Amino acid sequence: MTTIFSKIVKGEIPSYRIAENDRFYAFLDINPLAKGHTLVVPKKEIDYLFDLEDELLAGMNVFAKKIARAIEKVVPCKRIGVAVLGLEVPHAHIHLIPINSEADISFSRPKLKFSEAEFIELAEKISKEVKL
Ligand code: AMP
Repeated sequence: MTTIFSKIVKGEIPSYRIAENDRFYAFLDINPLAKGHTLVVPKKEIDYLFDLEDELLAGMNVFAKKIARAIEKVVPCKRIGVAVLGLEVPHAHIHLIPINSEADISFSRPKLKFSEAEFIELAEKISKEVKL
């Protein structure tokens, strides 16, 4: 089954793209816990993060690090929190979430709302800071 994230990667449905390379794609979460909440996915469709082969998993973390560095430059925060759930979308993904406290990364909190223009502006700003 094609996942919604595979459709995003292929450009079949829109996303607020941050960056991509031949193996990974980063885009803003549409139901963010914090401004700058970003998802990193492998282009290869694999459900469970720990089913990724070692080299792909290692590469995904290095890619995520570069995205986190870019988010830090745009969104003031103590650090970028990292979470992996995968309970909703069966396509491995890493959540990168700017945090100032433990509560900021609680998935039971209400999600933030941003306008399309705000998402676009934020994605562009972060994207410009990415050094792959
Ligand atoms: P989980 O699988 O539990 O890690 O949650 C999936 C995450 O993907 C949630 O935070 C959703 O807000 C996010 N999400 C689902 N569909 C989209 C989409 N089309 N664009 C961006 N983020 C999405």
